[in-house]
Amino acid sequence: MDIIRLLPDSVANQIAAGEVIQRPASCLKELVENSLDAGATRIQIIIRDAGRTLLQVIDNGRGMSETDARMAFERHATSKITQAKDLFDLHTMGFRGEALASICAVAHVEMTTKPADAQVGTYIEIAGSEVVKQEVCSCPDGTNFKIKDLFYNIPVRRKFLKSNQTELRNLLTEFYRIVLVHPEVQFTFVVDDEILFDLKPQSEKQRIESIFGGKKNVYVEKFVSCNVETELIKIHGFLLVPENATKIAQQYFFVNGRYMRHPYFHKAIMEAYSKMLTPDQTPSYFIYFEVPANAIDVNIHPTKTEIKFENEQEIFQILLATAREALGKFTMVSVMDYENPPVYPTPKNSTPPARPNVIVDTKYNPFQKKEVKEYISLLDENLPQKTMNTPPSEPTELMGKLWDFDDLDINSTFSHLGYIYFPTEKGMLIIDQYRAHVCVLYHQFLLNLTDMPAKSQSLLFPEVIELTPDETILMYNMLPELRDVGFMIEQTNKNEFTIQGIPYVLDASQIENTIKNMLSSWEQKPFSVRDSQQIIALSLAQKVAVERNRILSREEKEEILQMLFNLEENQRTPDGKKVMILLDEQSLANRFN
Ligand code: ADP
Ligand code: MG
Repeated sequence: MDIIRLLPDSVANQIAAGEVIQRPASCLKELVENSLDAGATRIQIIIRDAGRTLLQVIDNGRGMSETDARMAFERHATSKITQAKDLFDLHTMGFRGEALASICAVAHVEMTTKPADAQVGTYIEIAGSEVVKQEVCSCPDGTNFKIKDLFYNIPVRRKFLKSNQTELRNLLTEFYRIVLVHPEVQFTFVVDDEILFDLKPQSEKQRIESIFGGKKNVYVEKFVSCNVETELIKIHGFLLVPENATKIAQQYFFVNGRYMRHPYFHKAIMEAYSKMLTPDQTPSYFIYFEVPANAIDVNIHPTKTEIKFENEQEIFQILLATAREALGKFTMVSVMDYENPPVYPTPKNSTPPARPNVIVDTKYNPFQKKEVKEYISLLDENLPQKTMNTPPSEPTELMGKLWDFDDLDINSTFSHLGYIYFPTEKGMLIIDQYRAHVCVLYHQFLLNLTDMPAKSQSLLFPEVIELTPDETILMYNMLPELRDVGFMIEQTNKNEFTIQGIPYVLDASQIENTIKNMLSSWEQKPFSVRDSQQIIALSLAQKVAVERNRILSREEKEEILQMLFNLEENQRTPDGKKVMILLDEQSLANRFN
């Protein structure tokens, strides 16, 4: 008996939709990319209930003819490529012809569309892949998509959606990724009748400011530009000046007009910043690459943002050199590295252009299997505060309380380069001064916080902090906890919060920074009440602890060490970093071998 049958289109489309349209944000991405491919210069986005009930995208692009309007919803129907080799020279965001078919399989779709040269437009209504209505209509030039009741026919998916706040954040993330690389396009973003963004055509720099700057308008001033043009690639962008780095980072790579994730190139940027940042500083960057369309492969997976480059190693070196050079203006370290700044050839040279003056690490092959671990550890590095629970302490030697503070002779200690050296019978104990202080303060703060009601100090001058829309959403979640620990805080405007009082342990000059740090820690993990106190205690401790380069007085040293050795857990900071190491006889002997 034959048992294989072709699935009906509606079923096949639903299955494909699971791949392409995972949540409202993926739907938004597909629609806006279509608008950009259609040459739109103005795109309006209207969202209701975080995209569950309505997701509308209106553009002034080239529109569709009556036949195309119907064809557009068929699977593998696309105007963007006609043959396999086009895949290797893509100039559009879309090319699979899957998005609209997938969307109409899982939602009610209404569309009006009209090319500029047509007298009338076309209206089409589709539900679950079935055309419900198609008629001639009068409408403006361009295309207007209304996606209603997303996943109405797939309850499991509907249930699978996160809270409105989370979905809205996902929508904003997608929106940022698109608008930052299309500053020439006008965008509005309306959520539940409130205009979150109204972006005029502007420069890249202004666009970044419009998204992340808020009212103060000083955001991009904290960045330094970088720019390089070589045979292989053009790179330009903005790197945060190290001294302005906080824990919150905006990190964006774009290539040929699309957002991408690229852990390997991220590593180049991190390397350029190395030694310029303290452990709780993360750099922000916006880097735009331009390469010939055939030098990248975007054909990986519809929802993936990774992109493969030819010549990745060379580009890594070019990126590293450019970033270092740009940042070098701000720090002694790299100025010294850069006595001989690299000279880049430009394609305009009539003589055969020389390779950029960079050293290529020929051993590095991003596609080698064994590098996967490296990629993963890289990802981990990007997630500060991953664990709030103290991981297992160091083996053997450093287990438990080996030293009683009273047994130690403070006079025999000395500090150098941010470490405290402590000769003991078992060897030289080396203590990281900043981390030791973080440990000590963390426990103090935690005690204070759990000691209800939290004590707060009123501020003489209330502090107003401004957040980005996505931070505001996080803030809603964090508000009750903040109040529990002594913040007197109210929302006073759309993305604005006013703080009248703070926990007494906090210094009034550090409010904004501390709150923003907490928001970013918060984002990493959902918390129970107890955890949120830990987050806040740790953020405060990291804020207040002595810097590495401070030379401690005898009293300070004594106080920190005494408290440190009285803690049960003193080998690691609450976020799992080593506080001390022991150089014993054996390890010293090894070093001298
Ligand atoms: P793809 O973008 O991969 O071609 P889609 O399913 O997203 O596939 O879209 C199918 C086709 O519908 C596109 O190739 C394009 O011709 C047309 N189309 C979709 N959205 C628009 C729009 N906003 N304006 C004009 N044409 C559009
Ligand atoms: Mg598309």
